[in-house]
Amino acid sequence: MDDVPTPPATPPAASPAASLPVLQADCGNCFALCCVALPFAKSSDFAVDKPAGTPCKNLRQDFRCGIHTRLRDTGFRGCTVFDCFGAGQQVSQVTFGGRDWRTHPETTRAMFDVFPVMRQLHELLSYVAGALALPDAAPVHPELRLALARTEEWTRAEAQALADLDVAALRQEINTLLLRTSELVRAKVPGRKKNHRGADLMGARLAGADLRGANLRGAYLIAADLSGADLRKADLIGADLRDADLGAADLRDAIFLTQPQLNAARGTLSTRLPHPLTHPTHWT
Ligand code: SF4
Repeated sequence: MDDVPTPPATPPAASPAASLPVLQADCGNCFALCCVALPFAKSSDFAVDKPAGTPCKNLRQDFRCGIHTRLRDTGFRGCTVFDCFGAGQQVSQVTFGGRDWRTHPETTRAMFDVFPVMRQLHELLSYVAGALALPDAAPVHPELRLALARTEEWTRAEAQALADLDVAALRQEINTLLLRTSELVRAKVPGRKKNHRGADLMGARLAGADLRGANLRGAYLIAADLSGADLRKADLIGADLRDADLGAADLRDAIFLTQPQLNAARGTLSTRLPHPLTHPTHWT
């Protein structure tokens, strides 16, 4: 981890777990940053083109969505998939101390620059915290704890330092640890494991497949049929699961699976999930 950028003048966290920010969105404490800061291209997921820094046309004055309960029916399915991992409230309440971009327009540019960086930091924290919860990854836990503490420090840095952060370098360093974590965990699965890293599996028929311990890092599984598949201890980091059928699949102990990936997929209440992920409300 020697090449990881060092946060500026912020004392190391004495106990990373104690100071870890909340890694789930708390929209009530956020100034609707995803609805303003991010750009969206018109698609099946988002009904209109929206440039970065422009409020969504559905955003109300109180920072709430005017069509929140009708998003999927009105062409804004992507909004129900998105998750900021808690970056929104961190930027709103910590980095900018509760000053919103409407009443403090001088913060607007910096706030919108920082939000995508913070989202990546929170996503990394989520992966590292997940790896630290895996007993099989114990040999790499000391380095993961260090990475967690340093990344957490970054989430408390000032706006300009965050905007200048080489987050790609941080991602690369942490990814090395996550790769080692993956190898340690998947090595516990007996037999030959499938390697589909980065594979094009769009629309693949994998119903009932034995994918225990498989390497599915970055695999394109869009609209793949994974119903009834056994994905225990499979590494799903970065896998594209949009419209994949996860009905009755077994994802217990799958590693690096995120809630946004599940939100983008199809599934049923019989789909078995790793803790603490939950069945999306649109699953039946
Ligand atoms: S940025 Fe996150 S916390 Fe803020 S409105 Fe969007 S999802 Fe909610």
